[in-house]
Amino acid sequence: MAVILDMASPNQLDKGKEASAAHMLDHIEIDAETDALYVRVKDFITPMEWPSIAKRVAAINALKKEKRAVILAHNYMTPDIFQLIGDFRGDSLQLAREAAQVDAEIIVQAGVHFMAETSKILAPEKTVLIPDMRAGCSLAASITGADVRLIKETYPGVPIVTYVNTTAEVKAECDITCTSSNAVQVVEHIAKKFNTDQVILLPDQYLAQNVAAMTDITILTWPGACEVHELFSADDVRELREAHPGIVILAHPECPPDVLEEADYAGSTSALSHYVSDRQPAQVVLLTECSMSDNVAADNPDVDFIRPCNLCPHMKRITLDNIYTCLVERQHEVRIDEEVRLKAKKAIDAMLALPKMAKPLDFDVGLKPLQIDMVMTAA
Ligand code: SF4
Repeated sequence: MAVILDMASPNQLDKGKEASAAHMLDHIEIDAETDALYVRVKDFITPMEWPSIAKRVAAINALKKEKRAVILAHNYMTPDIFQLIGDFRGDSLQLAREAAQVDAEIIVQAGVHFMAETSKILAPEKTVLIPDMRAGCSLAASITGADVRLIKETYPGVPIVTYVNTTAEVKAECDITCTSSNAVQVVEHIAKKFNTDQVILLPDQYLAQNVAAMTDITILTWPGACEVHELFSADDVRELREAHPGIVILAHPECPPDVLEEADYAGSTSALSHYVSDRQPAQVVLLTECSMSDNVAADNPDVDFIRPCNLCPHMKRITLDNIYTCLVERQHEVRIDEEVRLKAKKAIDAMLALPKMAKPLDFDVGLKPLQIDMVMTAA
């Protein structure tokens, strides 16, 4: 007799699980502890929306205790996730470091896939879950391990630095990783170590251009870009200044160099956040992912934020409902081949072994954009 298989796609199955999870959530009582959290998100969630969100928050926080789980929430998560259920909050490297140290059985990465991989690389004994396996990244998707192997064949002896926004497979082929907080320090360190004045910095062409403007090392790069930050332009900056006289304009170094030329300050996600907390500008705009402004605004109620909204579609795949489902079902575990993990860890460890910077790097602003060469490959 023929066996009829259930042909539902993984996405349909996930949707079915989420729908039944949402149904269960409707019966949860909101406790006083959860209700008190509303003050943190009152500017983003209306009183009408709150009861439904509060039920999800209460259920997730109870599940975390039951399952010895923690949630690592990236700055680009929506405020319901970042402010209400994130146990550790920050940029990708801060989160991965927490992952390595935290006493927990399960890590839920409220972020994108390369971040979950980085957590797994540093915390192999823990179960790392991501609520939606499709949460990718245009930078991480722009290059493969095979691409890096070809580059190494074409440029023997030239050190390769990879931005942390890459897959484990790519990190495994590179000499060292960097973040936007330490990219110049890493490039200069690896050039000295290899006794060369040429370094390949992958895969973000704009970050590489912005770093090249700050060092005498010759930098070659790869044509990758963050699909969120590359949307900002120098015209946007000029229009913002015209519309809001006196506004302070902060840019992430994944933005094209002509944006940094026009901005008042540029730095990593944590540098932008520190800038606002420390200096309390009267009015500010963050040229970065949209939810970051919401989260920094929640912590700085006296600062007026202007918010041109560029959302990361990958980050926005993570929701309260799929975090809840992933915890209930213990699903979407991130696994990495052990040989790849160990090689990728070596590249991350090489970065972590560098002296810790007193504060994240301030990128130069006001400079003319510098053109740099792309790597050539035999392919
Ligand atoms: S914001 Fe850009 S770099 Fe970050 S995950 Fe989205 S596409 Fe990748």
